[in-house]
Amino acid sequence: MRQLSTVDSVRAFLAPARRDGRRIGLVPTMGALHDGHLALVDDARRRADLVVLSLFVNPLQFAAGEDLDRYPRDLARDVALAAARGVDLLFAPTVEEMYGAGRELRIVGGATANLWEGAIRPGHFDGVLTVVAKLFNIIQPQLASFGQKDIQQVTLVRQLIEQLNIPVELSMVPTVREADGLALSSRNVYLSASERVTARALSAALRAAAQGWSRGERDAAVLHAFAEAVLAGAPGIVTDYIAVVDGARMLPADAVVAGSIMAVAARVGSTRLIDNIIFGQKGL
Ligand code: AMP
Repeated sequence: MRQLSTVDSVRAFLAPARRDGRRIGLVPTMGALHDGHLALVDDARRRADLVVLSLFVNPLQFAAGEDLDRYPRDLARDVALAAARGVDLLFAPTVEEMYGAGRELRIVGGATANLWEGAIRPGHFDGVLTVVAKLFNIIQPQLASFGQKDIQQVTLVRQLIEQLNIPVELSMVPTVREADGLALSSRNVYLSASERVTARALSAALRAAAQGWSRGERDAAVLHAFAEAVLAGAPGIVTDYIAVVDGARMLPADAVVAGSIMAVAARVGSTRLIDNIIFGQKGL
């Protein structure tokens, strides 16, 4: 595995592969790799000839007062995990390399970017879309793998690709979970032992809604109430939102159909956690 930190060196490294018509797959991450990230690597390896994993804690997508400074970082461990999983190129630029030329221009998301995560974290998705656009321009991949865990991000990257005519195929990889249902996240390390137990309520709430769906319930308000009851019954958890939305733009839905989404966000202590299901999808 090659490890590079500059845009020029990445372009030079990828030029021969591009010339030979090899398909380049990109897996964007902020590091602190776990099995969820590695599932994206597996997906990109299956669908592309050469896998690039980017590792960059993007300051643009953190608001003041968020966890930018304490975000978990362990480059040596990430390098070992990526190499063992078959990543061909690990791109780990500095903030100066990514934004040294300036950061006043932004990709500004539309309505979807102002809902849910975007409502609670203003500007978050503009930061995400801007860095993803930069990575697409630097790597010029044919394929990019993103996790369903951050489903609003996937929805917005899909809009980015479609509305800016970027020639990238988007692959969405199902959420990888702990045995008890908790979605893997780099932020799970913030949880104390008792908070870790409480955190099960997110996936349990989604499971309650999924079971309602399996019994034939299609009323969004009823499915919402199933999830809400589980979260309300877990002490020490503060729900930010339970969203029942359509699969295309994540706008609120009254009736749930296959492909509709339930997304939840909640705080356990000082840690924010998010999770979601797609109705009609297997798993969870
Ligand atoms: P992050 O490093 O948190 O920015 O995540 C990088 C990528 O990994 C994003 O596309 C995430 O959606 C994805 N990801 C994070 N957690 C999981 C998970 N538990 N299962 C699948 N993909 C994940």
